[in-house]
Amino acid sequence: MAKIIIDIGHADKTGARSLDGKHEEHNLCTGIGALVIAKLTRMGHEVIRLDFPHLNNRDDLNKTISEANKISGVKLGVSLHMDAADSASAKGAHICYLTSSGKTAASHIVPELAKLLPGRAEHMVKRTNLAVLKQTKAPWILIECGFITNPHDCDIAVNQTGTLAEVIANGIDAAVKA
Ligand SMILES: [Zn+2]
Repeated sequence: MAKIIIDIGHADKTGARSLDGKHEEHNLCTGIGALVIAKLTRMGHEVIRLDFPHLNNRDDLNKTISEANKISGVKLGVSLHMDAADSASAKGAHICYLTSSGKTAASHIVPELAKLLPGRAEHMVKRTNLAVLKQTKAPWILIECGFITNPHDCDIAVNQTGTLAEVIANGIDAAVKA
C-alpha cells in the first residue's frame, strides 16, 4: 500500500465549463475523485484528498501545494482536471508531468485512459510552468480527464464516471506499485 494524494482541481465553481454551461470542472472532478479515492482505499492505499472549494482559484492552488508539502512519505500526488477549448472539437485525455518520476507514473495510466478518452496526439506532456508540478515535493502528475467542452468527453465524465474513475485508479495503483 502507498500514500497517495488526490487533489481536486480548482475551487468551487471556478473551473472550466461545458459549452452549454451545464457542467463545471471542479464539480465533475469532485465526482471523479470520490470514486477514484473509494477504489484506491479498497485496494488498501492511504489516500489523502486535498480540496479547498471555499477559497478562490489561486488560493486553492497555493493551499494545495502547502498542504501537500506538509505530508511525508507521499508516493504520488495526482491533480484531477478537465481541459477546455473554444470549440467543441478538441477532445481526449492527457497527463502533465514535470519530473522523470512523474513521467513514469503517467506512463502506467495513459494507455487505458487514452482508450477511454482518445483524441490527443500526445498522451503525456512535460509542463514546466505548472505550479502544482513545480512546487510539490512528492512525485506529481496532473490528469486532464478529457475536454469538458467536448460533448463526448463531458458525457463520459458525467455519465460514465465509474468507468473513468476505475481506469484512473487502476493506473495509479500500477504506478505506485512499479
Ligand atoms: Zn483545470
